[in-house]
Amino acid sequence: MCGGIESLKQRIASCIVNSRLQLFELYTSLHPISAPVTWHETVWEILNYPKHSFILWLVVQDKLQTQDRLMTHGIIQSSICKLCDGSYAENRSHLFFECSMSTYVWNSIMEWLNFKWRCCVWSPLMNWYSFRLRGRGLKQRIKRMALAATVYNIWRERNCRIFKLQSRTADCLIKNIKLDILTGRMNAENGSSHYRAHCNLHVDRKVLHMVRRQNFGLLQSNCTFYTVGRSLYCTVDYLYFS
Ligand SMILES: [Zn+2]
Repeated sequence: MCGGIESLKQRIASCIVNSRLQLFELYTSLHPISAPVTWHETVWEILNYPKHSFILWLVVQDKLQTQDRLMTHGIIQSSICKLCDGSYAENRSHLFFECSMSTYVWNSIMEWLNFKWRCCVWSPLMNWYSFRLRGRGLKQRIKRMALAATVYNIWRERNCRIFKLQSRTADCLIKNIKLDILTGRMNAENGSSHYRAHCNLHVDRKVLHMVRRQNFGLLQSNCTFYTVGRSLYCTVDYLYFS
């Protein structure tokens, strides 16, 4: 600590009121509370699965152990993306979402959620999330969920290909991400709520089948289904915290 023992004594003395040490004052004196980072709301969206938030937290700080970082540390000798045709090096920007596979996945999710502004380049995308997608409205929250779920599922797919030699198609990934979003919303609805809103989402029949298997009771009480032409839609009554 700067200032040595005398400075520390002075700090402690300044936190004594009526002969009693104010621990909170001392703590904030030693660890000043800094302003939240711009991506705080995006990463720590309350509806996110914790594992999704954790991976996204690493990604925004570029701390995920992508192959370019492993090469820098001398752990591996070459960096090849396992998601596309193998002609590109793996780094954060490529994985999220410039790789042809992740571009397809993220574009599909953005289209599904009716994003008006679309981007597959990491820095402007995070700027948009940090400075343009503000507030606690339903659509903003689902869009934050979508980013965290997509990043998590792409990272998981990358790990499966490297460590288990197993691969899924981009369409399979998209189904999993939609499933994560739908089931995450339904699970959150179990808590107390302040008001209700709804959102119409196009639902793939296979995704619906997976949701039914995992959340049958919730599905019955919270969702209604209707068709337009040959497409199936799901109206989900979202209960969320104010
Ligand atoms: Zn790639």
